[in-house]
Amino acid sequence: MKAPKPDDPRRSALMARVRQRGTAPELAVAAILRSLGLAYRLNVRSLPGSPDFANKHRRWAIFVMGCYWHHHTACRSATVPKTNEAFWRGKFAANRLRDARAVRSLRAAGYRVLLVWECEVDAPDDLRRRLQRSLNRVA
Ligand SMILES: [Zn+2]
Repeated sequence: MKAPKPDDPRRSALMARVRQRGTAPELAVAAILRSLGLAYRLNVRSLPGSPDFANKHRRWAIFVMGCYWHHHTACRSATVPKTNEAFWRGKFAANRLRDARAVRSLRAAGYRVLLVWECEVDAPDDLRRRLQRSLNRVA
């Protein structure tokens, strides 16, 4: 399920703040983690940025990022609407800044932080290998 891309900035700003839960990319990541036998908690609000998946004991966290809202660099889904373009560029920049701040805080607390982009789910074998490689070192 792709996030909708409404053209009304006020409505869109509201939607961007509410991170979507239980989206297809998140379900795909959950299935991979389970298949790797990795225990996790969902939507961990006690950690910076409320990671989608985290294991506090093993100290890793995963953010599943929508390519549009979080403006994945060089991704074809990271488009900028032609109407209200300045607003949108500011909005995406603010999202990126917030993401970076959460990642920095977690890394400072000794967490291994992984960002999984929505488009990576299109290549599940590659994603599985990446998660396995990154998390097996700490799991
Ligand atoms: Zn992407």
